[in-house]
Amino acid sequence: MSSCFLDLPHAPLQPLRLPWLESANIEVAILRLDLIDPLISGNKWFKLRHHLLQAHEARAPGLISLGGNHSNHLHALAAAGKRFGFATAGLLRGHAQDTPTVRDLHALGMELHWLGHGGYRARHQPGFWAPWQARYPGWHCIPEGGGGLKGALGCALIVEQARLQLAALGWPDYHAWWLAAGTGTTLAGLVLAEAGRHAVHGALAVPLGHGVPQAVAELAGTRGYQLHEACRSGFARVDDELLAFIDETEHHTGIPLEALYTGKALLALREQAQAGLFAAGTRLIFLHTGGLQGRRGYL
Ligand SMILES: *Cc1c(COP(=O)(O)O)cnc(C)c1O
Repeated sequence: MSSCFLDLPHAPLQPLRLPWLESANIEVAILRLDLIDPLISGNKWFKLRHHLLQAHEARAPGLISLGGNHSNHLHALAAAGKRFGFATAGLLRGHAQDTPTVRDLHALGMELHWLGHGGYRARHQPGFWAPWQARYPGWHCIPEGGGGLKGALGCALIVEQARLQLAALGWPDYHAWWLAAGTGTTLAGLVLAEAGRHAVHGALAVPLGHGVPQAVAELAGTRGYQLHEACRSGFARVDDELLAFIDETEHHTGIPLEALYTGKALLALREQAQAGLFAAGTRLIFLHTGGLQGRRGYL
């Protein structure tokens, strides 16, 4: 059973051709984490890997974590639990709601507890987990969004995936990564794995005040990366320009993006490319972090 989640899924590295990239004279390849698995999608697979291994070694009967009612993290967790034989429980923000994601969580066998908004805000307080550990003895608890060092370490494998496919793409090397950052855990994982070899650019899907710079610094130090504001008017805010940009990108490339992370990250890349952040001839890897299930929430 363990080999199932030890096996590295395949994420294709594909050329990304768009008129604005050509005008800026930069080459971009997109690493398609959205294609690794029909259910355990995107960066969440990598963020969960060490947790699954640890839960397996500890013979934990189940896995428990937190998220919102469109959460890609809870969705991947519920799917992984069902696939690998763990029970799962989800602690949700707010009051009971019926969303496509919530329906999937039920269908995948996850037990759901709605904490209200105040109850959810208490998630960082000491003692938050105690009653849940009492209710689910021996279960493995995963921080919100799969954040933290275990999540970051799982993401180091993303760098390996890209490296193995450079030759097939005809690239001798690349200069930098570009990806969306929510908690910044995935970004921290890439920074740790690169250890200064290639720069990492994070497009912030949340406002600067949400503590991402601090979280990344705690996990990966302060060097080897740059953060760019990309959330537009706030996390999970979607505007017409963004949706039009996503449509246009899909039309040109056939690659689906969602609006909360990958769409905003690519739009921020366009802004920076047009502002001249990258010299002509720069080769970038754009990380498609998946999360397409969440599109059902706003379309
Ligand atoms: C969760 C998520 C992110 C953010 O990842 P972090 O590790 O929290 O920064 C980015 N893109 C998608 C699609 C996600 O679901």
